[in-house]
Amino acid sequence: AGQIVFKDVRFHYDEDRPILKGIDFEVPAGKSVAIVGPSGAGKSTISRLLFRFYDVTGGAVEIDGQDVRNVTQESVRHAIGMVPQDTVLFNDTIAYNIRYGRPGASEEDVREAARMAQIHDFIENLPKGFDTEVGERGLKLSGGEKQRVAIARTILKSPPILILDEATSALDTHTEREIQSALDQVSKNRTTLVIAHRLSTVVNADQIIVLEAGEIAERGTHMELLDRG
Ligand code: ADP
Ligand code: ADP
Repeated sequence: AGQIVFKDVRFHYDEDRPILKGIDFEVPAGKSVAIVGPSGAGKSTISRLLFRFYDVTGGAVEIDGQDVRNVTQESVRHAIGMVPQDTVLFNDTIAYNIRYGRPGASEEDVREAARMAQIHDFIENLPKGFDTEVGERGLKLSGGEKQRVAIARTILKSPPILILDEATSALDTHTEREIQSALDQVSKNRTTLVIAHRLSTVVNADQIIVLEAGEIAERGTHMELLDRG
């Protein structure tokens, strides 16, 4: 499960300003696509349409052959995990923040997800940065650590579809490399949509789509795009 099809997708936020101008692509279940392009091209809008934060103004988005407008927003969001650019945590333990991915999960499953994302040492800590007093369990998390929490949450949720929204862009190179291996783990066998600025960060995607001003300018594998210059 998890096949994604965009069929001539058109979208605008404001009537007089088209944002997506006829986007066509297909991602087979379990494969990955990277949407690359400059800021403002419409990349995040594509993920919002998949997530049904907004509905298309023309064409259709389908998951497993079904138009997402015919499914409840809730079930669409259930099928999709998201590792956002900046992870916002709840003012509660890391374990709580991970369990949010699947509220009924056992403690052991939460720990296992934390282990896979390599944040298992911290799960009883509370993220610092809230106004409340957290005492000695308070822990200031780095951007990379917050992202690991989001990754663990997604591992626990185990959705067929994963959206990685510039997931490593806010990190330094060392952290980026570490997070990348956790992301590679979690995206294995899941349909994955990666949103990125730079082609160099999406070398392994099965398919790369270069988006410019709401249109597909180019598509291919990393090698094909490099060959074409
Ligand atoms: P990208 O992810 O490629 O940077 P976005 O999809 O975020 O691009 O945005 C595409 C365009 O849509 C931008 O010009 C942006 O200003 C505009 N836009 C994004 N969100 C909204 C919104 N909620 N209302 C109006 N315009 C928006
Ligand atoms: P959850 O809280 O389970 O992650 P949500 O449906 O609240 O599910 O949000 C899913 C993800 O989408 C969140 O990680 C959030 O960062 C991101 N998100 C929420 N609202 C918006 C929005 N208006 N535009 C883009 N991304 C959003």
